[in-house]
Amino acid sequence: MLTSNYSHSCLLGRLKQLVLSRNVLFATFDSKFHFFSPVQSSSSKLTFLKFSIIAEQRSSFFTVQKMSSSEKELYLSMSLEEKRKEYSIKGKPVTLDQVATWPAYAVAQNFPPKSTDSREFSVNGDHNQRISIFRGDITSLEIDCIVNAANKELQGGGGVDGAIHRAAGHNLLQSECRKLGGCDVGDAKITGGYRLPARYIIHTVGPVGEKPDKLRSCYKRCLEVMKENQLKSIAFPCVSTGIYHYPNDAAADVVLSTVREWMDRDSYSKEVERIIFCLFMDEDVKCYHRLLPKYFPLE
Ligand code: ADP
Repeated sequence: MLTSNYSHSCLLGRLKQLVLSRNVLFATFDSKFHFFSPVQSSSSKLTFLKFSIIAEQRSSFFTVQKMSSSEKELYLSMSLEEKRKEYSIKGKPVTLDQVATWPAYAVAQNFPPKSTDSREFSVNGDHNQRISIFRGDITSLEIDCIVNAANKELQGGGGVDGAIHRAAGHNLLQSECRKLGGCDVGDAKITGGYRLPARYIIHTVGPVGEKPDKLRSCYKRCLEVMKENQLKSIAFPCVSTGIYHYPNDAAADVVLSTVREWMDRDSYSKEVERIIFCLFMDEDVKCYHRLLPKYFPLE
Protein backbone atom coordinates (compact mmCIF):
# COMPACT_ATOMS: atom_id res chain seq x y z
CA MET A 1 0.00 0.00 0.00
CA LEU A 2 1.14 3.45 -0.88
CA THR A 3 0.37 4.84 2.53
CA SER A 4 1.97 2.08 4.65
CA ASN A 5 5.59 3.32 4.60
CA TYR A 6 5.27 7.01 3.91
CA SER A 7 2.92 9.67 5.17
CA HIS A 8 1.03 11.68 2.52
CA SER A 9 2.79 14.92 3.38
CA CYS A 10 6.23 13.30 3.17
CA LEU A 11 5.40 11.84 -0.24
CA LEU A 12 3.81 14.98 -1.58
CA GLY A 13 6.86 17.04 -0.77
CA ARG A 14 8.89 14.77 -3.06
CA LEU A 15 6.35 14.09 -5.79
CA LYS A 16 7.65 14.91 -9.25
CA GLN A 17 5.48 12.92 -11.59
CA LEU A 18 2.25 10.99 -11.37
CA VAL A 19 0.73 8.80 -14.03
CA LEU A 20 -2.25 6.50 -13.81
CA SER A 21 -2.34 4.03 -16.65
CA ARG A 22 -4.47 0.92 -16.90
CA ASN A 23 -5.11 0.88 -13.21
CA VAL A 24 -1.42 1.03 -12.31
CA LEU A 25 -0.09 4.09 -10.54
CA PHE A 26 3.44 5.20 -11.50
CA ALA A 27 4.85 7.84 -9.19
CA THR A 28 8.28 9.46 -9.17
CA PHE A 29 9.01 11.12 -5.88
CA ASP A 30 12.46 12.46 -6.69
CA SER A 31 15.01 11.61 -9.32
CA LYS A 32 15.85 8.32 -7.56
CA PHE A 33 12.68 6.90 -6.13
CA HIS A 34 9.94 5.30 -8.21
CA PHE A 35 6.77 3.71 -7.07
CA PHE A 36 4.42 1.36 -8.89
CA SER A 37 1.18 0.26 -7.43
CA PRO A 38 -1.89 -1.47 -8.79
CA VAL A 39 -4.83 0.82 -8.16
CA GLN A 40 -7.53 -1.59 -7.20
CA SER A 41 -9.00 -0.79 -3.84
CA SER A 42 -11.10 2.31 -3.37
CA SER A 43 -8.63 3.63 -0.75
CA SER A 44 -5.71 3.52 -3.20
CA LYS A 45 -7.92 5.21 -5.81
CA LEU A 46 -8.63 7.95 -3.31
CA THR A 47 -4.94 8.30 -2.48
CA PHE A 48 -4.24 8.75 -6.20
CA LEU A 49 -6.97 11.35 -6.46
CA LYS A 50 -5.69 13.33 -3.52
CA PHE A 51 -2.21 13.35 -5.02
CA SER A 52 -3.49 14.38 -8.42
CA ILE A 53 -5.63 17.20 -7.02
CA ILE A 54 -2.74 18.62 -5.00
CA ALA A 55 -0.30 18.08 -7.85
CA GLU A 56 -2.75 19.85 -10.17
CA GLN A 57 -2.82 22.83 -7.82
CA ARG A 58 0.98 22.93 -7.92
CA SER A 59 1.25 22.13 -11.62
CA SER A 60 3.89 24.80 -12.18
CA PHE A 61 6.23 22.71 -10.02
CA PHE A 62 5.23 19.18 -10.96
CA THR A 63 4.97 17.30 -14.20
CA VAL A 64 1.68 15.52 -13.87
CA GLN A 65 0.53 13.15 -16.57
CA LYS A 66 -2.98 12.00 -16.10
CA MET A 67 -5.34 9.76 -17.97
CA SER A 68 -8.51 11.79 -17.78
CA SER A 69 -10.70 8.83 -18.69
CA SER A 70 -9.24 7.01 -15.68
CA GLU A 71 -9.86 9.98 -13.45
CA LYS A 72 -13.38 10.28 -14.78
CA GLU A 73 -13.89 6.60 -14.03
CA LEU A 74 -12.41 7.06 -10.56
CA TYR A 75 -14.89 9.77 -9.68
CA LEU A 76 -17.77 7.87 -11.24
CA SER A 77 -16.86 4.65 -9.43
CA MET A 78 -16.79 6.25 -5.98
CA SER A 79 -19.51 5.60 -3.47
CA LEU A 80 -21.55 8.67 -2.50
CA GLU A 81 -19.75 8.77 0.83
CA GLU A 82 -16.31 8.76 -0.83
CA LYS A 83 -17.30 11.30 -3.44
CA ARG A 84 -18.75 13.71 -0.87
CA LYS A 85 -15.25 14.00 0.63
CA GLU A 86 -13.98 15.26 -2.76
CA TYR A 87 -16.63 17.96 -3.37
CA SER A 88 -15.17 21.40 -3.88
CA ILE A 89 -18.32 23.41 -3.08
CA LYS A 90 -18.33 25.34 0.19
CA GLY A 91 -21.80 24.62 1.54
CA LYS A 92 -23.75 21.39 1.79
CA PRO A 93 -24.92 19.78 -1.44
CA VAL A 94 -28.62 19.97 -2.23
CA THR A 95 -30.13 16.51 -2.66
CA LEU A 96 -33.07 15.73 -4.92
CA ASP A 97 -35.47 15.20 -2.01
CA GLN A 98 -34.73 18.77 -0.88
CA VAL A 99 -35.95 20.19 -4.18
CA ALA A 100 -39.73 20.58 -4.09
CA THR A 101 -41.75 19.21 -6.98
CA TRP A 102 -43.75 21.75 -8.96
CA PRO A 103 -47.09 21.11 -7.15
CA ALA A 104 -45.42 21.33 -3.70
CA TYR A 105 -43.56 24.49 -4.75
CA ALA A 106 -46.80 26.11 -5.95
CA VAL A 107 -48.45 25.44 -2.58
CA ALA A 108 -45.41 26.70 -0.62
CA GLN A 109 -45.24 29.86 -2.76
CA ASN A 110 -48.95 30.41 -2.32
CA PHE A 111 -49.62 31.56 -5.82
CA PRO A 112 -52.66 30.72 -7.94
CA PRO A 113 -51.73 27.74 -10.08
CA LYS A 114 -54.29 28.58 -12.76
CA SER A 115 -52.78 29.97 -15.91
CA THR A 116 -53.98 33.35 -17.07
CA ASP A 117 -53.02 32.35 -20.62
CA SER A 118 -55.45 30.42 -22.79
CA ARG A 119 -55.36 26.67 -22.06
CA GLU A 120 -53.12 24.89 -24.56
CA PHE A 121 -51.81 21.98 -22.53
CA SER A 122 -53.80 19.47 -20.51
CA VAL A 123 -53.21 18.82 -16.81
CA ASN A 124 -50.71 15.97 -16.44
CA GLY A 125 -50.11 15.11 -12.77
CA ASP A 126 -47.37 12.67 -13.72
CA HIS A 127 -45.35 15.35 -15.54
CA ASN A 128 -45.94 17.82 -12.72
CA GLN A 129 -44.35 15.48 -10.15
CA ARG A 130 -41.23 15.30 -12.33
CA ILE A 131 -40.49 19.01 -12.71
CA SER A 132 -39.15 21.61 -10.28
CA ILE A 133 -38.05 25.18 -9.94
CA PHE A 134 -34.84 25.56 -7.93
CA ARG A 135 -33.58 29.02 -7.01
CA GLY A 136 -29.84 29.07 -6.47
CA ASP A 137 -26.45 27.82 -7.57
CA ILE A 138 -26.60 24.90 -10.00
CA THR A 139 -23.20 23.61 -8.76
CA SER A 140 -24.76 22.71 -5.40
CA LEU A 141 -27.12 20.08 -6.85
CA GLU A 142 -26.34 16.46 -6.04
CA ILE A 143 -28.16 14.91 -8.98
CA ASP A 144 -27.33 12.84 -12.07
CA CYS A 145 -26.43 15.74 -14.35
CA ILE A 146 -26.39 19.50 -14.62
CA VAL A 147 -26.40 21.44 -17.88
CA ASN A 148 -23.68 23.95 -18.64
CA ALA A 149 -24.25 27.02 -20.84
CA ALA A 150 -20.89 26.52 -22.54
CA ASN A 151 -18.99 28.20 -25.37
CA LYS A 152 -18.22 26.47 -28.70
CA GLU A 153 -14.65 25.69 -27.65
CA LEU A 154 -15.79 24.08 -24.36
CA GLN A 155 -12.98 25.94 -22.67
CA GLY A 156 -14.84 27.44 -19.73
CA GLY A 157 -15.73 31.10 -19.50
CA GLY A 158 -17.77 33.44 -17.31
CA GLY A 159 -21.20 33.10 -15.72
CA VAL A 160 -22.54 29.65 -15.05
CA ASP A 161 -19.81 28.11 -17.25
CA GLY A 162 -17.08 29.55 -15.03
CA ALA A 163 -18.88 28.44 -11.86
CA ILE A 164 -19.22 24.87 -13.19
CA HIS A 165 -15.59 24.64 -14.34
CA ARG A 166 -14.30 25.95 -11.00
CA ALA A 167 -16.46 23.57 -8.99
CA ALA A 168 -15.69 20.51 -11.15
CA GLY A 169 -11.93 21.31 -11.03
CA HIS A 170 -10.93 23.32 -14.10
CA ASN A 171 -7.95 21.17 -15.13
CA LEU A 172 -9.77 17.91 -14.53
CA LEU A 173 -12.72 19.02 -16.66
CA GLN A 174 -10.56 20.68 -19.31
CA SER A 175 -8.53 17.56 -19.96
CA GLU A 176 -11.76 15.80 -20.97
CA CYS A 177 -13.32 18.80 -22.77
CA ARG A 178 -10.22 19.20 -24.96
CA LYS A 179 -10.85 15.74 -26.44
CA LEU A 180 -14.42 16.53 -27.49
CA GLY A 181 -13.49 18.82 -30.38
CA GLY A 182 -15.80 21.67 -29.35
CA CYS A 183 -19.56 21.80 -29.65
CA ASP A 184 -21.86 23.46 -32.21
CA VAL A 185 -24.55 25.96 -31.29
CA GLY A 186 -27.69 23.95 -30.46
CA ASP A 187 -25.78 20.72 -29.81
CA ALA A 188 -24.84 19.07 -26.47
CA LYS A 189 -21.93 16.91 -25.22
CA ILE A 190 -21.43 15.07 -21.96
CA THR A 191 -18.46 14.90 -19.54
CA GLY A 192 -17.93 13.68 -16.00
CA GLY A 193 -18.79 15.97 -13.10
CA TYR A 194 -15.46 15.37 -11.26
CA ARG A 195 -15.51 17.37 -8.00
CA LEU A 196 -19.09 18.54 -8.46
CA PRO A 197 -21.91 16.89 -6.54
CA ALA A 198 -23.52 16.19 -9.95
CA ARG A 199 -22.22 12.99 -11.56
CA TYR A 200 -22.18 14.36 -15.12
CA ILE A 201 -22.20 17.69 -16.94
CA ILE A 202 -24.05 18.11 -20.24
CA HIS A 203 -22.49 21.05 -22.08
CA THR A 204 -24.71 22.87 -24.55
CA VAL A 205 -23.94 25.97 -26.60
CA GLY A 206 -26.78 28.45 -26.72
CA PRO A 207 -27.35 31.06 -29.43
CA VAL A 208 -26.25 34.65 -29.10
CA GLY A 209 -29.45 36.71 -29.16
CA GLU A 210 -32.99 35.51 -29.81
CA LYS A 211 -32.87 32.42 -32.04
CA PRO A 212 -35.71 30.14 -30.91
CA ASP A 213 -34.82 27.17 -33.15
CA LYS A 214 -31.27 27.04 -31.77
CA LEU A 215 -32.39 27.39 -28.15
CA ARG A 216 -35.03 24.68 -28.67
CA SER A 217 -32.35 22.44 -30.14
CA CYS A 218 -30.11 22.97 -27.05
CA TYR A 219 -32.78 21.73 -24.67
CA LYS A 220 -33.84 18.86 -26.94
CA ARG A 221 -30.26 17.68 -27.36
CA CYS A 222 -29.65 17.84 -23.59
CA LEU A 223 -32.74 15.71 -22.98
CA GLU A 224 -31.58 13.24 -25.65
CA VAL A 225 -28.09 13.01 -24.13
CA MET A 226 -29.64 12.45 -20.70
CA LYS A 227 -31.68 9.60 -22.20
CA GLU A 228 -28.73 8.09 -24.12
CA ASN A 229 -26.84 7.90 -20.84
CA GLN A 230 -29.82 6.58 -18.88
CA LEU A 231 -29.68 9.51 -16.45
CA LYS A 232 -32.72 10.27 -14.35
CA SER A 233 -32.31 13.79 -13.01
CA ILE A 234 -31.18 16.94 -14.80
CA ALA A 235 -30.96 20.65 -13.97
CA PHE A 236 -30.95 23.41 -16.59
CA PRO A 237 -29.69 26.94 -16.05
CA CYS A 238 -31.34 29.65 -18.18
CA VAL A 239 -29.17 29.03 -21.25
CA SER A 240 -28.28 32.13 -23.31
CA THR A 241 -30.07 34.64 -21.04
CA GLY A 242 -26.86 36.01 -19.49
CA ILE A 243 -23.87 37.10 -21.54
CA TYR A 244 -25.64 35.86 -24.73
CA HIS A 245 -28.57 38.28 -24.16
CA TYR A 246 -31.54 36.11 -25.07
CA PRO A 247 -34.62 37.93 -23.66
CA ASN A 248 -35.60 36.12 -20.45
CA ASP A 249 -39.33 35.86 -21.14
CA ALA A 250 -38.92 34.62 -24.70
CA ALA A 251 -36.30 32.08 -23.55
CA ALA A 252 -38.55 30.70 -20.78
CA ASP A 253 -41.34 30.27 -23.33
CA VAL A 254 -39.09 28.23 -25.65
CA VAL A 255 -37.68 26.18 -22.75
CA LEU A 256 -41.02 25.24 -21.22
CA SER A 257 -42.71 24.41 -24.52
CA THR A 258 -39.72 22.25 -25.54
CA VAL A 259 -39.65 20.33 -22.26
CA ARG A 260 -43.44 19.85 -22.19
CA GLU A 261 -43.48 18.58 -25.79
CA TRP A 262 -40.57 16.22 -25.10
CA MET A 263 -42.31 14.83 -22.00
CA ASP A 264 -45.54 14.29 -23.97
CA ARG A 265 -43.72 12.59 -26.82
CA ASP A 266 -40.88 10.55 -25.31
CA SER A 267 -41.75 7.58 -23.08
CA TYR A 268 -38.33 7.90 -21.37
CA SER A 269 -39.83 10.89 -19.53
CA LYS A 270 -41.68 8.34 -17.35
CA GLU A 271 -38.32 7.06 -16.11
CA VAL A 272 -37.01 10.54 -15.36
CA GLU A 273 -37.13 11.44 -11.70
CA ARG A 274 -36.79 15.19 -12.10
CA ILE A 275 -36.23 17.96 -14.61
CA ILE A 276 -35.14 21.05 -12.67
CA PHE A 277 -35.24 24.63 -13.93
CA CYS A 278 -32.43 26.29 -12.00
CA LEU A 279 -33.12 30.02 -11.69
CA PHE A 280 -30.45 32.44 -10.60
CA MET A 281 -32.00 35.84 -11.35
CA ASP A 282 -35.24 37.27 -9.93
CA GLU A 283 -36.33 38.15 -13.44
CA ASP A 284 -36.22 34.48 -14.42
CA VAL A 285 -38.21 33.53 -11.33
CA LYS A 286 -40.96 35.94 -12.45
CA CYS A 287 -40.98 34.50 -15.99
CA TYR A 288 -41.19 30.90 -14.81
CA HIS A 289 -43.90 31.73 -12.26
CA ARG A 290 -45.95 33.22 -15.06
CA LEU A 291 -45.29 30.53 -17.66
CA LEU A 292 -45.10 27.25 -15.72
CA PRO A 293 -48.89 27.17 -15.10
CA LYS A 294 -49.39 27.56 -18.85
CA TYR A 295 -47.23 24.60 -19.88
CA PHE A 296 -47.69 22.50 -16.73
CA PRO A 297 -51.17 23.41 -15.42
CA LEU A 298 -51.95 22.07 -11.97
CA GLU A 299 -55.75 22.10 -12.23
P1 ADP B 1 -24.95 32.50 -21.56
O1 ADP B 1 -23.61 32.81 -22.13
O2 ADP B 1 -25.56 31.24 -22.14
O3 ADP B 1 -25.88 33.67 -21.60
P2 ADP B 1 -24.47 32.90 -18.68
O4 ADP B 1 -23.66 32.06 -17.79
O5 ADP B 1 -24.01 34.30 -18.92
O6 ADP B 1 -24.64 32.08 -20.04
O7 ADP B 1 -25.96 32.97 -18.13
C1 ADP B 1 -26.87 31.91 -18.22
C2 ADP B 1 -27.74 31.92 -16.97
O8 ADP B 1 -27.04 31.29 -15.91
C3 ADP B 1 -28.13 33.30 -16.47
O9 ADP B 1 -29.50 33.27 -16.08
C4 ADP B 1 -27.27 33.46 -15.22
O10 ADP B 1 -27.87 34.31 -14.27
C5 ADP B 1 -27.24 32.04 -14.73
N1 ADP B 1 -26.18 31.70 -13.76
C6 ADP B 1 -24.98 32.28 -13.55
N2 ADP B 1 -24.30 31.63 -12.58
C7 ADP B 1 -25.09 30.59 -12.19
C8 ADP B 1 -24.99 29.54 -11.23
N3 ADP B 1 -23.88 29.40 -10.47
N4 ADP B 1 -26.02 28.67 -11.09
C9 ADP B 1 -27.12 28.77 -11.86
N5 ADP B 1 -27.29 29.73 -12.79
C10 ADP B 1 -26.30 30.62 -12.95
